[in-house]
Amino acid sequence: MRQLRTLRIKAHAKINLFLNVVGKREDGYHNLETVFQSIDLHDEIILRERDKKGVVIQCDHPDVPSDSSNLAYAAAQAISNSVDGMGGLEIRIEKRIPVAAGLGGGSANAAAVLYGINELFSLEIMQSTLMRIGRDLGADVPFCLIGGTAFGTGIGNILTPLSPLTDVPFILINPGISVSTSDIFRNLHIPLTKRAKESIIIRNCVEKRDTVGIGKNLYNYLEIPVFSKHPELSEIKSHLSMQVGTLGALMSGSGATIFALMQNADSAQRCQSHFKNTYSLCMTTKTCPRGVQIDN
Ligand code: ATP
Repeated sequence: MRQLRTLRIKAHAKINLFLNVVGKREDGYHNLETVFQSIDLHDEIILRERDKKGVVIQCDHPDVPSDSSNLAYAAAQAISNSVDGMGGLEIRIEKRIPVAAGLGGGSANAAAVLYGINELFSLEIMQSTLMRIGRDLGADVPFCLIGGTAFGTGIGNILTPLSPLTDVPFILINPGISVSTSDIFRNLHIPLTKRAKESIIIRNCVEKRDTVGIGKNLYNYLEIPVFSKHPELSEIKSHLSMQVGTLGALMSGSGATIFALMQNADSAQRCQSHFKNTYSLCMTTKTCPRGVQIDN
């Protein structure tokens, strides 16, 4: 009997260095302009062939469903509906990315499953097809498939890769507040300014690897509605901004994680030591050139 194969994949979290809402669409979604950045923080996804048909899923985090409502399960189902050749599959998720934290954990898991199934069953699905399937699962899934540094328009799914920012240190702080992305967007006022110039400026800073410039031009429109509901997040941002070695601080996605771009690894370490006893989550991380990668 043939041995059943196993694949371990790292599913990386993302932060948004820039995020503006530029309009509401007829389908209810919003058009965005955003600069995505993959970070080192990742979940482990273990895919194992089964001798029985169908998909089973298991996750070690109490707030993440271990059934068909898990985005990773939906990703496997979407592949099995689109192409022939996928056998039975077991998915195990070892969760490290905080949940509902604006770090794209569910999207990263879905992207890892799309990528991993293609490898595990040698399906030879083209990247463009994986991206299309991913987009139907969630706006951030296409970015998680390509990873690195990229500019996103549309709902965040139309992507232009930017020069990768390598080994740039960050601090992440989350005081344990989870924010529902759909709630934030449902009650959103469309901003009056498109901030097209600001978006070009930060992309130019990324292209030049000008981390001081990136730090000065970090922007997230969603801070307005989220900070008005959770003022403590605005305080965290101010405290982080005042630390020696902080080049800029911002909320990621729809929150509630606040990140700080740090001058170097030493200042990131010092900053983490300063805050680690105050917040339930306070960690150092760094930029990563990939969204998903096989972990041998
Ligand atoms: P989004 O902005 O897409 O909501 P997020 O990064 O803020 O993403 P996630 O960690 O993806 O938040 O979790 C959002 C919701 O999705 C949670 O309520 C969680 O229970 C649910 N969920 C479903 N599948 C997953 C998964 N594989 N990993 C994490 N959350 C998942």
